Amino acid sequence: MSFDINNLIRENVKKLKPYSSARDEFEDFDTADMIFLDANENPYQNGVNRYPDPQQASVKVVLGQMKNINPKQILLGNGSDEVLDLLFRAFCEPKVDNVISLPPTYGMYSVLANINAVENREVLLSTDFQPQVAQILENVDANTKIIFLCSPNNPTGNSFSEASVLTLLKKFSGLIVIDEAYIDFSEKASWLAKLEHYPNLAITQTLSKAYGLAGIRLGICYGSEAIIAVLNKIKPPYNVNELTQQRAIKRLNDQGKIDAEIVAIIKERASLLNVLKDVKFVEKIYPTEANFILIKVDDANKRYAALIEKGIVIRNRTTQPLCENTLRLTIGTAEENKKLIEALLAI
Ligand SMILES: *Cc1c(COP(=O)(O)O)cnc(C)c1O
Repeated sequence: MSFDINNLIRENVKKLKPYSSARDEFEDFDTADMIFLDANENPYQNGVNRYPDPQQASVKVVLGQMKNINPKQILLGNGSDEVLDLLFRAFCEPKVDNVISLPPTYGMYSVLANINAVENREVLLSTDFQPQVAQILENVDANTKIIFLCSPNNPTGNSFSEASVLTLLKKFSGLIVIDEAYIDFSEKASWLAKLEHYPNLAITQTLSKAYGLAGIRLGICYGSEAIIAVLNKIKPPYNVNELTQQRAIKRLNDQGKIDAEIVAIIKERASLLNVLKDVKFVEKIYPTEANFILIKVDDANKRYAALIEKGIVIRNRTTQPLCENTLRLTIGTAEENKKLIEALLAI
């Protein structure tokens, strides 16, 4: 494969002269003794009266050190949903280009394709929820810009085999986006370490799951400097707000607590997997490398309703392809899981 990012970028994006904000034109805005009369802000200090850093430099320094990556290879967004949307808007020409996603998987790839008027070619996973590489490559044409690989995959919980991801990276000349929202719950290594070897690889992660910050909305894209520069060019100037940047830094500097919570969730996952074997209407428990478990039951709609009756909300995935009569259970606290188990055994 021959990867050239210029074959990928939309013409209007290539030509675009990005909006230049006051904070872009004078970047050094932390300088305490300067007077800032450039952005029409209210001058009275309250902690958030100033626009946030459009490049989120402080957050990227912390992340860059943590992940051992150059801050120029990081793009931050208002959740990974914004990051994924930027990928569509940078590389996929509406009504011309297409992307490939692999159901059953995260629903946003298809929603974002629809919003952006981009064809989403769906190639089902195999029955053991692995990418069908030959079929995927058969669906690629000159207008295929992105293949989305969610690994560990939502809602199935497994990660994709290294061999199939490698084949796709090598044979596809568009962008491979690996969504690693759940990577911190897996024993498998992140693809981040391999980023340098594959100019067509972009990796998305999020602070919404393992990092415990779903409420602040912070998503991350790692890629080559060239890919990140394109996304940076089209992102809204102040897409990550000040409060989010502050809370993210605070939390990222508390890695011990994050790690302890991940360990606790994985431990709870193991005990839940164990007890689920004793629930009579559970027909199959799928292997998981995420903070949720997918199970097959006798009648998903019935069991879902029964749990709601008992005050427990889970996710019914029965309408998803290959997921008939499946339910997705998020791992809660020990106490919540105990109540879940009691409810399951009582139904
Ligand atoms: C939850 C989830 C996300 C997170 O999205 P945010 O917008 O960052 O909260 C991304 N991808 C997958 C597969 C998810 O399940």
